[in-house]
Amino acid sequence: MTHSDFPAGPTGLIHHPYQPPEGFEAPQPGVFKASTVFFPTVEDMRQREWKDKSAYTYGLHGTPTTYLLEERLCHLEGGSQCVLVPSGLAALATVSLALLKTGDELLLPANAYGPNKALAEGELQRYGIRHRLYDPMDPDDLSANITPQTRLVWLEAPGSVSMEFPDLPELVRRCQARGVVCALDNTWGAGLAFKPFDLLRTGADSPKRLAVDISVQALTKYPSGGGDVLMGSVITRDEALHLKIKLCHMRLGLGVGANDAETVLRSLPSIALRYAAHDQTARKLAAWWQSQAPCVQVLHPAFDGAPGHANWQTLCKEENGSSLAAGLFSVMIDPRFSTAQVDAFCDHLKLFKIGYSWGGPISLVVPYDLRAMRPQWPSQIKPGHLVRFSTGLESADDLILDLHQALQAHLTAV
Ligand SMILES: *Cc1c(COP(=O)(O)O)cnc(C)c1O
Repeated sequence: MTHSDFPAGPTGLIHHPYQPPEGFEAPQPGVFKASTVFFPTVEDMRQREWKDKSAYTYGLHGTPTTYLLEERLCHLEGGSQCVLVPSGLAALATVSLALLKTGDELLLPANAYGPNKALAEGELQRYGIRHRLYDPMDPDDLSANITPQTRLVWLEAPGSVSMEFPDLPELVRRCQARGVVCALDNTWGAGLAFKPFDLLRTGADSPKRLAVDISVQALTKYPSGGGDVLMGSVITRDEALHLKIKLCHMRLGLGVGANDAETVLRSLPSIALRYAAHDQTARKLAAWWQSQAPCVQVLHPAFDGAPGHANWQTLCKEENGSSLAAGLFSVMIDPRFSTAQVDAFCDHLKLFKIGYSWGGPISLVVPYDLRAMRPQWPSQIKPGHLVRFSTGLESADDLILDLHQALQAHLTAV
């Protein structure tokens, strides 16, 4: 069976085209590990082709375990080819290194994932590749920053700290109009909140399909779901683009371990349920924050008053009214409180742990200094202290009690 024989969505992540050894049908696929792969003859070794996955040549170029994970991630996101790398950041780096050369320019949204900016300011700059920042909430600003040297535009929906949700289809159209490759960091959407290769939701293989060229995910987040694996994916629909990325990936010697791939394979069948649970808890907490005096703004794309709320609705809301968002949001705390008070509030939380990343079972909190992260204060965000929450899988009521006690202890008197 091929993967098109299975229904789209979560069911297709559970029933998959894995061929178990004869007589051993079981829920999970086997784990295959190798550096060396044997060839029956020298002639066979010389003939074997690894690029199209028609055969195995060396562990670094793929095993049945990694091929299966790649296939299932393509199913999740609606792509055709996938490359696996050891972290989400490695996925961002692989794309930039595969597509850019000295003299080229790349564009990053002003609210880009910090380490992607750091890569542009570090290695890419050293290699003579320049970058510019564009305002993700202003498609005209994106167009204005595209020059004859621009070869790659990074997109995020939403920014993972300040949570502005851009008009993603319009940004993609602007890139297409200028013939520039656009790559989406789709860690937030995870292939569930919207389809990066079918942004207008035309379905199947409609000729009107609007798609990003590349979708990258930190599998570290929802696809792993455990807070215990680092991995990234680069998904495409264009064979030539995939081959460029795959060749760079091979030359850099990037690969993932079979046990980590197996952990993600084991988590994928529950991703849709987990994502929905994280989402519901985050919305309950964000709604609670809206009525708390120290909070001047809730930055969650599903909430009125958050930057890009209407863009999120257009992209992520179904006709039946249902919608999805990740379990991630930020709040702006009244600037009259001191940084020390906001830090003390975070320290006082018990269920929320202080730590980076998201998508795991435990809720996390991080205060960010937005002023230091952006060239200008974003016009749609009110002044204040930004605190980002990632909701885990705890009960929302317990989390609200935890927030309440820490608020009472440190954020009552200005
Ligand atoms: C976490 C994250 C990454 C990087 O993933 P790692 O596996 O931690 O390297 C990239 N983009 C976004 C939006 C992320 O949240």
